[in-house]
This record gives sequence, structure tokens and C-alpha cells, in this order.
Amino acid sequence: MSRVRTVMGDVDTDQLGVMFAHEHLLMTGGWPVLHEPDYRLDDLPAAATELRAAAAHGLSAVVEMTPLGFGRSPRGLAQLARETGVAIIATTGFHKVEYYDDLHWLHRYSADQISRLLIEEITVGMDEYGLVGPYADRTDARAGVIKIGTRYHRLGRSIGKLIEAVGMAHQETGAPVATHNDKGTCGHEVLDALVAAGVQERHVVLGHIDHNADPGAARRAGRPRCVPRLRPARPDQVRAGQRLGGAAGRGRRARRRRPAAAGLRDLARRSYWRSLGGGPGLDYLLRVFAPRMRAEGHADLVDAALTVNPARAFALR
Ligand SMILES: [Zn+2]
Repeated sequence: MSRVRTVMGDVDTDQLGVMFAHEHLLMTGGWPVLHEPDYRLDDLPAAATELRAAAAHGLSAVVEMTPLGFGRSPRGLAQLARETGVAIIATTGFHKVEYYDDLHWLHRYSADQISRLLIEEITVGMDEYGLVGPYADRTDARAGVIKIGTRYHRLGRSIGKLIEAVGMAHQETGAPVATHNDKGTCGHEVLDALVAAGVQERHVVLGHIDHNADPGAARRAGRPRCVPRLRPARPDQVRAGQRLGGAAGRGRRARRRRPAAAGLRDLARRSYWRSLGGGPGLDYLLRVFAPRMRAEGHADLVDAALTVNPARAFALR
């Protein structure tokens, strides 16, 4: 029986239905938020409103992909899960290195030390303060996925060590690994490094690969057993054709050649939330996009991207 680790405990993947594979519900500070105020998601009631709206259209689980250094809030996520009934899989690990202070411990600690911190977050509970230290405020909510980010066209300082730490934490805990690939670059580079660090391809979800307009790059990164996660940010028709791996080449054979999306979403801006006066809102994918895809004959792709693939991709090993 495969399971995912949510902030409220482990859940059989059979119990999961429609799942958003990459969202941000609480992202309250840190370098990116200070430099781009639109990233600040610090309104728990608004997040609950967004979740309830999506749940009304069938949402059952969300992968909350906010890593260390972004004002992640494990207690807030547990409260959201309790209040809305939506299962939340939380994240430990790192975004791209340029988002962290050059004096950050990630540049100083050994791979072994970093892996121990990640393992505690997954097996004991996440630190409410995001491991900014020196004391931890350990919560009951455990992380269910390990994130690692790379820079645009390069891996970044200290990344070899971080990937080594991620590999050790994955082997110890079985938690899946999700990447941030800046503008879709470095997909196969980071995947090769993770595999060398002991992470099986099928436990890696590559993020933002669809931002790279070169379909060859997406195919190379999306080798048969790993799963690229695609994000709907461009107009619907582009998504329908490209993002879900359908339309542009119709038929089974064309589809088989394309990487199948492990999931969709990433509305990490205040201006994307209807509850904060923006749009399209967290429910858009289920309220508008999925019904449209089904009406156009792509029900199989919708089910794969929103239900089957994410449950498989985020399962514990
Ligand atoms: Zn994100």
C-alpha cells in the first residue's frame, strides 16, 4: 500500500482524489518575498477560502511546495488542513541557492549535517521557524517531500553538497524529491545528480520543465521513469496542447512519446487569489479548465494529471 505524508499524518494514496501537485498557501517572508511583495501569502483565512472554493469542485489534496527560507508555517498548514478537510503535503529542503543569504548554514554545514536536519523534518516534525535557528520550535506536522532548486542554466553554489544531503534524506525516509528548475533549465543535469546521490528516477518530480520552450529538453529531462510537473501559467489553449502532453500530436503513440504531467498548478502570488481581489483563484483549474478539457475529449489526461500521476509521484518509497 503506498502512502503520502501529510501534515496530519500518513494517508493511503487510494484515499486521495484530485490533487494539486504544486501550490503555496503560506509564504510569509524571506528573500523572495522581500524582493517581490506579490509573493507574500500571509493570510490564513484567505488561504482557507481558496482551498474551500477548490474543494467545492473536488479538490482533496495539495502539495504545499514552500521550502525553508520562505516563511513556511507548519502550524498554519495543519490548521488549514483541519479547517478545510483538504490534505496538505508540506515541504522541507531548498529553493535555488540565490534565494539564501551567502552566510546561510547551507553553505557551511556538511552534507551529513544537512541531511540530518531534513530527516528530522520528515520523521519528527517541521520547525515552525524554518530552521533559521539557533533553536527549533518543533511541530507535530511532518514534511512529505524534499525540495531542491537550481539556478537558470546552472546548478549554483553548494548544490552538489545539497543534492548529496537530499539523497541521504531520501534514502533514510523514502520521501519523494521535487525540484525547482529555473525556466525549465538543468532538468537532466539535476536528475542525473539526484540519481547519482541514490534517488530513483521515479521518486523525482521535475518542476517548471514546461517553461523551457525546447520540447527536446522536456523529453530528455522527462526520462521514462521520472515525472515532470507542469504548470499552467500560459493561455488555456497552450496548456491544453503542450502542458498535459496531448493535443499537439494526437493519438496514443504521440502521447506516449511525451512526458506525462505529474500534476498542475503553482499560483504563488497574492494577485492570483480571488480571496485577495485577484484571479484566477485556486479553484480555476477545477471550475473552468478541467471541465473544458473533458468537454474537448481529454478526460484521460485530466485524470492522469490531477489524480493518478500526483498520487504516484508523491508517494513515499
Ligand atoms: Zn512554487
